[in-house]
Amino acid sequence: GMLGKLNLDQFAMGSSNETSYFGNVISPWRRNDGGNAALAPGGSSGGSSTAIAARLCPAATGTDTGGSIRQPAAFVGISGIKPTYGRCSRWGIVAFASSLDQAGPMARDVRDCAIMLEAMAGFDPKDSTSLELPVPEWEAGLNSDLRGKKVGIPKEYRLDGIDEDIAAMWDNGIAWLKDAGAEIVDISLPHTKYALPAYYIIAPAEASSNLARYDGVRYGLRDLPDGAGLQDMYAATRAAGFGAEVRRRIMIGTYVLSAGFYDAYYTQAQKVRALIARDFEYAWKQCDLILAPTAPSAAFGLGEKTSDPLSMYLNDVFAVPASLAGLPAMSVPGGLDKQGLPLGLQIVGKAMDEQGVLNAGLAIEERAGFTAEAEKWW
Ligand code: GLN
Repeated sequence: GMLGKLNLDQFAMGSSNETSYFGNVISPWRRNDGGNAALAPGGSSGGSSTAIAARLCPAATGTDTGGSIRQPAAFVGISGIKPTYGRCSRWGIVAFASSLDQAGPMARDVRDCAIMLEAMAGFDPKDSTSLELPVPEWEAGLNSDLRGKKVGIPKEYRLDGIDEDIAAMWDNGIAWLKDAGAEIVDISLPHTKYALPAYYIIAPAEASSNLARYDGVRYGLRDLPDGAGLQDMYAATRAAGFGAEVRRRIMIGTYVLSAGFYDAYYTQAQKVRALIARDFEYAWKQCDLILAPTAPSAAFGLGEKTSDPLSMYLNDVFAVPASLAGLPAMSVPGGLDKQGLPLGLQIVGKAMDEQGVLNAGLAIEERAGFTAEAEKWW
């Protein structure tokens, strides 16, 4: 049965849960420095990630527009899979960026993710982007023998100044997949560096359009000041209902869609998106799966990035390419960093190949021996 609702960033916009209307969730993890600094549970699905990591529930749902299942999973040492765009119906989910939004499960391990995904996926005529395909038996199909599989390592993800613990975990991941029988190949995804800027144009553009319906008439709250007319009601409602990050996205989105700037930003970002999808198409000629880190850092402190939206956005750098290409992608725990905090390994697969992604996730899970749990400090 359903246990309850969980917190998330407002309209799923954020990477730390701090934009939530209800206040943020605090990660159950603490650094091993003896301090008690409150850490971000990841975002936007920080309530889901934390409830699982704190053992309040075995699994939870999330939506992933640009990493909101994978990055929070990585931050708290659990697993999460964003399936191929269209696998899970979005009916009933508030739209953020419709060409990217996809639901998926988060759970303690890969098998539970497979069980959950099987229950969540399937054709729904109420969602026009729903894939009309049978749902494979992912749990029954779990198999961590990767002989015959090629795993690509994209050189563009080895960013200058990459965190050394992240780089070491990635190397461990490569060794584990090799041990499981996979052949490792170096690949190139040349347009990777344009993915984040393209995402932060396309997602706000779609959000600004989707959120236009929150006018105080039929959706959301209504703020009707004394003697106010219709326009005043719209303005008061939107000022009262939207937090700072959501307003920032609406402003960016309406700007990049405005007549004078549409071609310079929105059209350009759509072209970049096509190139990113093509990068993956070329990569699939050389490999079946791709292995990379989920995020460029472990969980950061609450408040650490709130005044600098760009550094917050940068946390999504490894997550957004798979989103822009609509591909299945999963995060599984890869180990702990020097601060004692979980790090996630990301597996990206071909469209519809959730089985391949889950199997590689299982192969890592069996070898990573990740048994660490958040200390029960509460
Ligand atoms: N952190 C990203 C953003 O703020 C992704 C959010 C999501 O996937 N919902 O847009």
